[in-house]
Amino acid sequence: MHQRSNKIDLHVHSTASDGILTPSEVVRLALERGLNVIALTDHDTLGGVAEAQQAATGTELKVIPGVEINSEGEWGALHFLGYYVDPENGPLREKLQAMLDARLSRARKMIRRLGELGMPLDWDEVRTLAGGKSIGRPHVARALVNRGYVETTQEAFESFIARDGPAYIPRPRLGPPEVIQAIVGAGGVPVLAHPAHSGPAAVERVPEFVSYGLRGVEVYYPDHSPQDVEKLLGLCREHDLIATGGSDFHGPGIEEGAPLGSVYVPPGCVERLREGRGYRAPTGRPSPYTSQR
Ligand SMILES: [Zn+2]
Ligand SMILES: [Zn+2]
Repeated sequence: MHQRSNKIDLHVHSTASDGILTPSEVVRLALERGLNVIALTDHDTLGGVAEAQQAATGTELKVIPGVEINSEGEWGALHFLGYYVDPENGPLREKLQAMLDARLSRARKMIRRLGELGMPLDWDEVRTLAGGKSIGRPHVARALVNRGYVETTQEAFESFIARDGPAYIPRPRLGPPEVIQAIVGAGGVPVLAHPAHSGPAAVERVPEFVSYGLRGVEVYYPDHSPQDVEKLLGLCREHDLIATGGSDFHGPGIEEGAPLGSVYVPPGCVERLREGRGYRAPTGRPSPYTSQR
């Protein structure tokens, strides 16, 4: 019942990160499918928002400025969505840029290590494979295949660049409190993305994230089971969090995520997110919503 076509999609990627449609193409597809609202939530960048909003000007479609910030580390895989962030906010942009810079230096270190292991790679070659986007392990893996050092990208991971591989360099991340505060500081509403997809630890830590200022949870998500949804709805009730939903669309035919507009979004969700903008009282304060429902 939650897989029916929807008018709203609050989790959408474009070529500004790892999606395959440009922000304008995403908008065109959303219009074709009769959507009213999408949030563009590219990984660690606000770079596609202006183009999407421009493309939607004068149409039926509203584009919510958003971002999906990676906060993965020894604490597990965590993604936070920021809705209605100000795309021009200096501190948030600087944080995302610093993370991007750190990722580039990580890629350089990985390439240096592979050179020491007798598999020299050319920086420009790896950068070309990344197509102007943030350079990550998949691009290094493809370069290793192109040079004939390994047969497949899977072998590249398994033999060299997986977490315990000889050329693995840890990925720089922001901690959850830092991410949540950066979103709130940019006037946005922080929402934990796909907690059940991320794993049990992410679900269990929701109360802790609430203490940092978390305002919502992405309850409806392509691979969340009905049991996951029930559990997450319970957490939303308990902590007065906004229940959101999104497809995590990355482009037609891409395995990650689901088709645009295919995931249930609860009624009133967008209004609650909009009202939640600029909310700055993390704990122990009455919620701005309790009296309104
Ligand atoms: Zn994610
Ligand atoms: Zn995503």
